Amino acid sequence: MFYLPLYHSNCIVPQFLGYRSLLYRINLIVLINMPTDMNFWKTKNLHELTEAEWESLCDGCAKCCVHKLEDEATGEVHYTCVACRMLDVNTCRCTDYPNRHETVPDCAVLSADQPAHFQWMPETCAYRLIHEGKPLPSWHPLITGNPASVHEHGASALKKLIPEFLADEEDLEKYIV
Ligand code: SF4
Ligand code: SF4
Repeated sequence: MFYLPLYHSNCIVPQFLGYRSLLYRINLIVLINMPTDMNFWKTKNLHELTEAEWESLCDGCAKCCVHKLEDEATGEVHYTCVACRMLDVNTCRCTDYPNRHETVPDCAVLSADQPAHFQWMPETCAYRLIHEGKPLPSWHPLITGNPASVHEHGASALKKLIPEFLADEEDLEKYIV
Protein backbone atom coordinates (compact mmCIF):
# COMPACT_ATOMS: atom_id res chain seq x y z
CA MET A 1 0.00 0.00 0.00
CA PHE A 2 1.38 3.42 -0.92
CA TYR A 3 0.41 6.56 0.96
CA LEU A 4 0.53 10.28 0.35
CA PRO A 5 1.48 12.34 3.43
CA LEU A 6 -1.30 14.64 4.56
CA TYR A 7 -1.48 17.05 7.42
CA HIS A 8 -4.40 17.47 9.72
CA SER A 9 -5.85 20.88 9.34
CA ASN A 10 -6.85 22.63 6.19
CA CYS A 11 -3.25 22.32 5.19
CA ILE A 12 -1.87 20.54 2.19
CA VAL A 13 1.80 19.76 2.56
CA PRO A 14 4.32 18.93 -0.21
CA GLN A 15 4.69 15.46 -1.60
CA PHE A 16 7.63 13.35 -0.51
CA LEU A 17 8.60 9.70 -0.46
CA GLY A 18 5.47 8.68 -2.27
CA TYR A 19 3.18 10.34 0.23
CA ARG A 20 1.13 13.47 -0.01
CA SER A 21 0.89 15.52 3.15
CA LEU A 22 -2.20 17.57 3.94
CA LEU A 23 -3.12 19.92 6.73
CA TYR A 24 -6.44 21.38 7.62
CA ARG A 25 -6.59 24.59 9.48
CA ILE A 26 -8.37 25.09 12.76
CA ASN A 27 -10.87 27.87 12.67
CA LEU A 28 -10.55 29.24 16.15
CA ILE A 29 -13.78 30.15 17.80
CA VAL A 30 -13.99 33.90 17.92
CA LEU A 31 -15.99 34.66 21.01
CA ILE A 32 -16.01 38.32 20.20
CA ASN A 33 -17.88 39.02 17.03
CA MET A 34 -20.26 36.12 17.55
CA PRO A 35 -23.10 35.69 15.05
CA THR A 36 -26.38 37.35 15.93
CA ASP A 37 -28.49 34.55 14.45
CA MET A 38 -27.77 31.83 17.03
CA ASN A 39 -29.43 29.11 14.96
CA PHE A 40 -27.80 29.96 11.66
CA TRP A 41 -26.35 26.46 11.20
CA LYS A 42 -29.88 25.07 11.05
CA THR A 43 -31.16 27.47 8.43
CA LYS A 44 -28.19 28.32 6.21
CA ASN A 45 -25.87 26.34 3.99
CA LEU A 46 -22.13 26.96 4.02
CA HIS A 47 -22.29 29.39 1.11
CA GLU A 48 -24.70 31.61 3.03
CA LEU A 49 -22.67 32.03 6.22
CA THR A 50 -21.21 35.36 7.27
CA GLU A 51 -17.52 35.40 8.18
CA ALA A 52 -18.39 35.43 11.90
CA GLU A 53 -20.79 32.52 11.47
CA TRP A 54 -18.19 30.58 9.50
CA GLU A 55 -15.52 31.05 12.16
CA SER A 56 -17.85 30.22 15.03
CA LEU A 57 -18.75 26.92 13.37
CA CYS A 58 -15.31 25.53 14.16
CA ASP A 59 -15.53 23.54 17.40
CA GLY A 60 -11.79 23.83 18.14
CA CYS A 61 -11.30 20.07 18.17
CA ALA A 62 -7.91 20.25 16.40
CA LYS A 63 -8.57 16.90 14.80
CA CYS A 64 -7.76 18.46 11.46
CA CYS A 65 -4.31 19.73 12.53
CA VAL A 66 -2.51 16.41 12.26
CA HIS A 67 -0.49 14.70 9.60
CA LYS A 68 -2.60 12.48 7.40
CA LEU A 69 -1.69 9.89 4.85
CA GLU A 70 -3.66 9.32 1.69
CA ASP A 71 -3.58 5.93 0.04
CA GLU A 72 -2.39 6.67 -3.48
CA ALA A 73 -4.28 3.71 -4.90
CA THR A 74 -7.65 4.16 -3.19
CA GLY A 75 -7.67 7.79 -2.11
CA GLU A 76 -8.50 6.67 1.42
CA VAL A 77 -7.27 9.13 4.06
CA HIS A 78 -5.64 7.85 7.24
CA TYR A 79 -5.14 10.09 10.25
CA THR A 80 -2.00 9.96 12.37
CA CYS A 81 -1.40 11.08 15.94
CA VAL A 82 1.34 13.49 14.83
CA ALA A 83 0.42 17.13 15.27
CA CYS A 84 1.24 19.94 12.89
CA ARG A 85 4.36 21.79 14.02
CA MET A 86 2.23 24.86 14.76
CA LEU A 87 -0.25 23.12 17.04
CA ASP A 88 0.00 23.41 20.81
CA VAL A 89 -0.95 19.85 21.72
CA ASN A 90 -1.80 20.92 25.28
CA THR A 91 -4.45 23.42 24.24
CA CYS A 92 -5.41 22.30 20.70
CA ARG A 93 -4.73 25.83 19.47
CA CYS A 94 -2.65 26.96 16.54
CA THR A 95 0.27 28.88 18.01
CA ASP A 96 0.18 31.56 15.31
CA TYR A 97 -3.10 31.27 13.50
CA PRO A 98 -3.03 34.70 11.77
CA ASN A 99 0.41 34.01 10.27
CA ARG A 100 0.19 30.25 9.90
CA HIS A 101 0.68 30.28 6.16
CA GLU A 102 4.13 31.81 6.56
CA THR A 103 5.29 28.83 8.62
CA VAL A 104 3.06 26.18 7.11
CA PRO A 105 2.33 27.34 3.55
CA ASP A 106 0.24 24.28 2.87
CA CYS A 107 -2.24 24.95 5.64
CA ALA A 108 -5.16 25.30 3.28
CA VAL A 109 -8.29 27.23 4.18
CA LEU A 110 -11.56 25.36 4.11
CA SER A 111 -14.02 26.91 1.72
CA ALA A 112 -17.58 26.20 0.68
CA ASP A 113 -16.33 26.57 -2.88
CA GLN A 114 -13.99 23.58 -2.50
CA PRO A 115 -16.26 20.76 -1.31
CA ALA A 116 -13.63 18.12 -2.17
CA HIS A 117 -11.65 19.23 0.89
CA PHE A 118 -14.42 18.15 3.27
CA GLN A 119 -13.67 14.48 2.61
CA TRP A 120 -10.35 14.98 4.42
CA MET A 121 -12.00 16.42 7.51
CA PRO A 122 -13.00 14.30 10.53
CA GLU A 123 -16.56 13.00 10.51
CA THR A 124 -17.36 15.22 13.51
CA CYS A 125 -16.08 18.40 11.82
CA ALA A 126 -18.88 20.95 11.87
CA TYR A 127 -18.11 22.09 8.32
CA ARG A 128 -18.32 18.56 7.01
CA LEU A 129 -21.54 17.92 8.95
CA ILE A 130 -23.24 21.02 7.60
CA HIS A 131 -21.91 20.26 4.11
CA GLU A 132 -23.52 16.80 4.38
CA GLY A 133 -26.80 18.22 5.69
CA LYS A 134 -26.30 16.75 9.17
CA PRO A 135 -26.97 18.39 12.57
CA LEU A 136 -24.25 19.57 14.92
CA PRO A 137 -23.45 17.24 17.84
CA SER A 138 -24.87 18.06 21.26
CA TRP A 139 -21.42 18.93 22.59
CA HIS A 140 -20.71 21.59 19.97
CA PRO A 141 -19.84 24.93 21.61
CA LEU A 142 -22.51 26.71 19.60
CA ILE A 143 -25.08 24.51 21.31
CA THR A 144 -23.57 24.30 24.79
CA GLY A 145 -22.37 27.90 24.91
CA ASN A 146 -19.16 26.53 26.40
CA PRO A 147 -15.99 26.63 24.24
CA ALA A 148 -14.48 23.83 26.36
CA SER A 149 -17.38 21.43 25.84
CA VAL A 150 -15.62 19.81 22.87
CA HIS A 151 -12.74 18.85 25.18
CA GLU A 152 -14.93 17.93 28.14
CA HIS A 153 -16.85 15.53 25.90
CA GLY A 154 -13.63 13.91 24.70
CA ALA A 155 -14.43 14.94 21.15
CA SER A 156 -11.20 16.82 20.54
CA ALA A 157 -7.57 15.87 19.96
CA LEU A 158 -6.59 17.19 23.38
CA LYS A 159 -3.96 14.95 25.02
CA LYS A 160 -4.14 12.53 22.09
CA LEU A 161 -1.37 13.88 19.84
CA ILE A 162 2.40 13.94 19.85
CA PRO A 163 4.32 17.03 18.71
CA GLU A 164 5.79 16.87 15.24
CA PHE A 165 9.36 17.31 16.53
CA LEU A 166 9.05 14.07 18.51
CA ALA A 167 7.87 12.05 15.52
CA ASP A 168 9.81 10.28 12.81
CA GLU A 169 8.59 12.26 9.79
CA GLU A 170 10.21 9.76 7.43
CA ASP A 171 7.95 7.01 8.70
CA LEU A 172 4.58 8.57 9.42
CA GLU A 173 2.82 5.35 8.53
CA LYS A 174 3.59 3.91 11.95
CA TYR A 175 1.59 6.73 13.59
CA ILE A 176 -1.67 5.96 11.77
CA VAL A 177 -4.52 5.80 14.25
S1 SF4 B 1 -0.76 25.81 10.76
FE1 SF4 B 1 -2.14 26.01 12.52
S2 SF4 B 1 -4.21 25.86 11.64
FE2 SF4 B 1 -2.76 25.05 10.09
S3 SF4 B 1 -2.68 22.81 10.47
FE3 SF4 B 1 -1.02 23.76 11.62
S4 SF4 B 1 -1.86 24.09 13.68
FE4 SF4 B 1 -3.59 23.76 12.30
S1 SF4 C 1 -14.32 21.70 13.64
FE1 SF4 C 1 -13.33 21.05 11.73
S2 SF4 C 1 -12.01 22.80 11.13
FE2 SF4 C 1 -12.55 23.07 13.30
S3 SF4 C 1 -10.85 22.11 14.42
FE3 SF4 C 1 -12.46 20.57 14.23
S4 SF4 C 1 -11.94 19.42 12.38
FE4 SF4 C 1 -10.76 21.34 12.32
